[in-house]
Amino acid sequence: MFNNIDLFTQALGIEDPWKLDKIDFNKDDGRLDIYISHKRGSKFPCPECGEKSPIHDTKERTWRHLNFFQYRAYIHAKMPRTKCKDHGVLQVKAPWAEPGSGFTMLF
Ligand SMILES: [Zn+2]
Repeated sequence: MFNNIDLFTQALGIEDPWKLDKIDFNKDDGRLDIYISHKRGSKFPCPECGEKSPIHDTKERTWRHLNFFQYRAYIHAKMPRTKCKDHGVLQVKAPWAEPGSGFTMLF
C-alpha cells in the first residue's frame, strides 16, 4: 500500500518536470522515504523572473514530512539550480517546502 507512486505524486502535488522516483517503506525502522528528481534535460523557471532556464547543477536535500500514520516520512530530492541568462545561477524552490526550511509546509 505504500508503494503507489501515482498516489504519492498526487498527494504531494508533484508536477512536471518533477517526478517521484521511488518510495522506500521500512516497516522495522518505522519510516517512509520518498525520492524525487526531475526529468532529464528539463528546464525550470528562474526563481527571479520565471523564465524557463537550463539546469546548472543539482544538490541532494532531505525534508522531514508529515508522518504517515505512525511512520516518519522523509522527502529526498535532487534540487536543481537554474542558470538564467539575466539572473545567473539560482536555487529552484521545492514546491513541497518553504525556501530554507528543513520542514515541509504541512509539518
Ligand atoms: Zn531570471
